[in-house]
Amino acid sequence: MNKRQKTIALVAHDNRKQDIIEWVEFNHAVLQKHHLVCTGTTGNLIQQTLRRKLAKAADAIQMTLMKSGPLGGDQQLGAMIAEGKIDILIFLWDPMQPQPHDVDVKALLRISSLYNIPTACNRSTADYLISSPLLESDYAPALKDFSSYLTRNLDL
Ligand code: PGA
Repeated sequence: MNKRQKTIALVAHDNRKQDIIEWVEFNHAVLQKHHLVCTGTTGNLIQQTLRRKLAKAADAIQMTLMKSGPLGGDQQLGAMIAEGKIDILIFLWDPMQPQPHDVDVKALLRISSLYNIPTACNRSTADYLISSPLLESDYAPALKDFSSYLTRNLDL
């Protein structure tokens, strides 16, 4: 996979799923050039919508589905970020409702910040990301040097 083809992770809480479906439909032509990795239910809904709406199977978007978010999908995406396998995170989390997997939500947002992954938590930021010229460039996020942390003296 060349660096101009990005791996874009998509996650939406239930009250935000309509938003992500509309966003994917609207940006379908751009997203076709990339690879999507989704939490289970979000990905299934996107696939169903695209199947209903697309004229040709050749218009399909490359998509990999993880487990459902509360069943470990958020953590799978976090692990992929730590392994350098995700370029962009679109995470439409629900600001109005507590989630059973709140700690996983926080962990995913923490790891995306730690690895300096472009992250959109609402549709307007997702619009900015998808229309950025950097999307089709070899952009690589700068990573902090954690060597002093890794070699810290634990004085045991
Ligand atoms: P879901 O997970 O796409 O499987 O519903 C989203 C989430 O993390 O809550």
